[in-house]
Amino acid sequence: MIRSLLIANRGEIACRIIRTARRLGVRTVAVYSDADAKALHVREADDAFHIGPSPARESYLVGEKILAAARATGAEAIHPGYGFLSENAGFAQTVIDARLVWVGPKPSSIRAMGLKDAAKKLMDAAGVPTTPGYLGEDQSPERLHAEADAIGYPVLIKAVAGGGGKGMRRVNASAEFQDMLQSCKREAAASFGDDRVLIEKYILRPRHIEVQVFGDSHGNVVHLFERDCSLQRRHQKVIEEAPAPGMDEATRAAVCGAAVKAAQAVDYVGAGTIEFIADASEGLKPDRIWFMEMNTRLQVEHPVTEEITGQDLVEWQLRVASGEPLPLRQDDLAIRGWAMEARLYAEDPTHEFLPSTGRLDHFVLGGRMRADTGVEEGDQISPYYDPMIAKLIATGGSREEAIDRLVATLEQVEVWPVKTNAAFLARAAADPDFRAGEVDTAFIPSKIDSLVPDSAPPEGVWALAANAMLASDFGGRFETLDPWTALQGFRANADADLRVSLRHGHDTRSIVAAEQEPEGVATAHGDTMLVFSEGQAFAFTLPGSGGGAGGGGASDGTLLSPMPGRVIAVDVRQGDRVAKGQKLLTLEAMKMEHSLLAPFNGQVSELNATAGEQVTEGTLLVRIEKAED
Ligand code: ADP
Ligand code: ADP
Ligand code: MG
Repeated sequence: MIRSLLIANRGEIACRIIRTARRLGVRTVAVYSDADAKALHVREADDAFHIGPSPARESYLVGEKILAAARATGAEAIHPGYGFLSENAGFAQTVIDARLVWVGPKPSSIRAMGLKDAAKKLMDAAGVPTTPGYLGEDQSPERLHAEADAIGYPVLIKAVAGGGGKGMRRVNASAEFQDMLQSCKREAAASFGDDRVLIEKYILRPRHIEVQVFGDSHGNVVHLFERDCSLQRRHQKVIEEAPAPGMDEATRAAVCGAAVKAAQAVDYVGAGTIEFIADASEGLKPDRIWFMEMNTRLQVEHPVTEEITGQDLVEWQLRVASGEPLPLRQDDLAIRGWAMEARLYAEDPTHEFLPSTGRLDHFVLGGRMRADTGVEEGDQISPYYDPMIAKLIATGGSREEAIDRLVATLEQVEVWPVKTNAAFLARAAADPDFRAGEVDTAFIPSKIDSLVPDSAPPEGVWALAANAMLASDFGGRFETLDPWTALQGFRANADADLRVSLRHGHDTRSIVAAEQEPEGVATAHGDTMLVFSEGQAFAFTLPGSGGGAGGGGASDGTLLSPMPGRVIAVDVRQGDRVAKGQKLLTLEAMKMEHSLLAPFNGQVSELNATAGEQVTEGTLLVRIEKAED
């Protein structure tokens, strides 16, 4: 077994790898950028090495810096985690050339699966069914268009170098094809430096089913069953589970068998995932499931597989990288129970899922379920990296039980003032169709309105805040004003109404204290009363006490960049008339795209943004002059 391991990653996955390494007695080395100097993965590792400035391309993405860190700390092996350098065949080769152990597949396997067109060609040859389509040998727009017409609409245009849900366009009709092709190529060139595309039949009622595979350096390959990752937003996974609902033994045998064949075809060593797309219009069927791509690394959602198989996949990775054979044979592996994972993001579903940054003044993940996280209370969410802050994993003897526990866990999430998607996730998991196993990739987009919670507190939350204010030590906690001025109609006799004036954002109300304790949790924080309810956080203050969380924004028509990012598209010109809610520009920050919308009807009076431009936090991007009604 290797004795020391450098983890070329950050956040929850770095912490996850450290946990297993420590249990196995392997010394761990963290690397960190400026922004991560005090991060949890640095605190948890045995040793840590600074690798440069905060932007990933100046630190976590620089292979030479990672190698220098390994040399300086005497690390024997490098685990890349996911994202960053994990699927970079050139980096893997450099690690091997430096006589270090690469915890991952051979560079040749990464390369073979790196481009979607080449991978599909290889899979065709290996007898693995692939999504019907055109692999793009001739990239002329006319030929691509003719192929799309021949496949029949809807089709999906995909960047061959794509990943992370980017570089994909669904085309519903021939007339839209050329526009979609151009925009797909533009995005692919900007994101991946390669604008080649392929065309696929758009599968109806698509379900994302993937299979965990594992190979060792002795020629063994096994699968660890399937996961269903159909709950996606913008082609990115949000909730994953294992096994897949409605999976029968015949389909499982077909898809898991195809996955093993795919891994064998590229001589696979280590952890990998074969992603398939299934046409679930008549349930899962062995002949309606096709290879989509392979991810040659550990996947974000690996915990659900660990939970149903009782295995530690990071331990398997370290054993395999050390030259040991796979810990178990295929016949020794079995599915026990059900597992669900929800990705907790620092983002605000009530504001277009805008990433949310800042200090985690309050951070409590409820329940007794497994939570894989890279942060603790008091830590900072910086704007530089992926906004995923934790994965909540629930298990149960049945799917129903796992869902109940996941919903309960999500509803108990308490995070403030950073915003999270906990309430959104809880609603998705509690949805009756989800419970019934009626999942496909259109689930979230088609239900988005009912899944996004209101940003204003419900009545019960106002009442809870009022009760909590009354019960708390006003004089002590709310020093900024005479507490009794907040109480109106206060009378000493027991059955009188007790009223308290409260403020939430720009909304001030006079609330009658409820006789029965409403549901939820309230905690005082300085002069703020926080109420946590069903995954959301609401901050209340007494009127006149300054502060006042929330609100703000574009009420005066100036749209500032909410965080450092890159302008990727500008949809308006100076002088344009715009309608309330109209898209003004798209900003990319923390790997997510965010649209800035017109706050009201008006005219673009100032425009300081061009596509491709890097902007800092607080930059005035657009000013809208309100129209006289
Ligand atoms: P990425 O590399 O970005 O992960 P994938 O090829 O894995 O790209 O596709 C991402 C998602 O897009 C899938 O999980 C699925 O939801 C959707 N998708 C991909 N191909 C198809 C298809 N042919 N038909 C319908 N949906 C698809
Ligand atoms: P897929 O590419 O099919 O969506 P995953 O679900 O495993 O596969 O997602 C992996 C992606 O998640 C990475 O490629 C990366 O874009 C993103 N990601 C999430 N958290 C992190 C992180 N802490 N560091 C790097 N990448 C991350
Ligand atoms: Mg994928």
